[in-house]
Amino acid sequence: MRRQRRTKIVATLGPASSDRTVIRRLFEAGADVFRINMSHTSHERMRDLVAMIRSVERESSRPIGVLVDLQGPKLRLGTFGSGSVVVNKGDVFVLDSNVEPGDTARVHLPHPEILKAAQPGQTLLLDDGKVRLRCTESEEGRLTTRVEVGGKLSDRKGVSLPETMLPFSALAPKDRSDLEAALDIGIDWLALSFIQRPEDIAEARKITRGRAMIMAKIEKPQAVERLDEIMEAADALMVARGDLGVELPLEKVPGIQKQITRAARRAGKPVVVATQMLESMISSPVPTRAEVSDVSIAVFEGADAIMLSAESAAGQYPAEAVAMMNRIAEEVESDPTYRAVIQAQRAEPEATGADAIAAAARQIAETLDLSAIICWTFSGSTALRVARERPQPHVVAISPNLATGRRLSLVWGVHCVVAEDAHDQDDMVERACRIAFTDGFAKSGRRVIIVAGVPLGTPGATNMLRIAFVGADQSEN
Ligand code: PEP
Repeated sequence: MRRQRRTKIVATLGPASSDRTVIRRLFEAGADVFRINMSHTSHERMRDLVAMIRSVERESSRPIGVLVDLQGPKLRLGTFGSGSVVVNKGDVFVLDSNVEPGDTARVHLPHPEILKAAQPGQTLLLDDGKVRLRCTESEEGRLTTRVEVGGKLSDRKGVSLPETMLPFSALAPKDRSDLEAALDIGIDWLALSFIQRPEDIAEARKITRGRAMIMAKIEKPQAVERLDEIMEAADALMVARGDLGVELPLEKVPGIQKQITRAARRAGKPVVVATQMLESMISSPVPTRAEVSDVSIAVFEGADAIMLSAESAAGQYPAEAVAMMNRIAEEVESDPTYRAVIQAQRAEPEATGADAIAAAARQIAETLDLSAIICWTFSGSTALRVARERPQPHVVAISPNLATGRRLSLVWGVHCVVAEDAHDQDDMVERACRIAFTDGFAKSGRRVIIVAGVPLGTPGATNMLRIAFVGADQSEN
């Protein structure tokens, strides 16, 4: 089975998609990677979901990626005596260390570090930005604020401080325990929430030690400011537009999405555009025109993947939402303007053998109108560099490593095949042509280009490029 599009689809699993039949349907509709959101998933449920995904993978013989998204240091208010209160513009409202239930004048903030870190003049956003406070005074265990945008506040609503550097890491104790459980199961991608600095990724990497790839969710202004360093430290990025749109003015999010997507493409790191892509499909079988347009913008930008959140996790039409994304991506990618838009953002190759060969492979393949670029790749790095070129021909990655195949399922244009390593160069060419033929990427008589690091299995040593004919005998194998 092969996809007819280059952009990948990530589908979040949840109550609407927690049984094997639905997961299978989502995969058939186009999901390449499944996301498990640890804000709403127990360890036991995560284990069940991963087992179901792996069973669908075995049945389909296609590597499927599993992305576990850690909750991160989510800040919350304490409780109110009456469950909820209304604060009005101009009111003085205090956040403090007193555990007593709150009222219209004050509430407990169970995060002493925040009470210390916030400074007069800084903003506090409550309940996804619905209520806005401005800190006027900071004392030991107490922040006095003035209400700038009033509204209802209830028990344990979320708190964001977009202007304050939070003095803790992106791994809360819950994240560490979720992370260990996810690594034990053998997941492929780990998403870190609310990161602020590159050190947050280094900290997670000390635990993952290569067992999972790390995706940095960009959702805080502090992370946007240090984007280049964070990108350098991470294996992939997510434009987490939900929280970005809380911490920054909404109208800034589209520009930041473009900056992140372009920076990730320049670096050759996968980038996922996430949140509210087909939001209305939570309760409607068809999306709005604006949502279709939003998905198409991410596809035109050359994002590696587009993501469904509540649409597939908790909506009434999970498979329809995946199928809709699939159709939009296919249609955009066959639009006559698509290639020109994609090419306009192509970055120069970096001065490495792998990049030089990837760029040459793309150029030769496009000049000679070859059917596919086939990469033999152990760690996936050769395929990533070829995908960075966003070539017109299909990219097929052959790896002996199932983990590599699963990780590459997130990457733009890469069709992964897990197969044992070739014995020698003839075997490599012969098997590459056979796979291109059997998986429908090249017809008999067409040529393909093969890229590899020789001797095989030497990570990072991309040094070979060969043009080969797909022979008539390929069809007999
Ligand atoms: C987001 O904020 O856009 C996001 C993807 O994160 P979460 O769904 O965990 O809030």
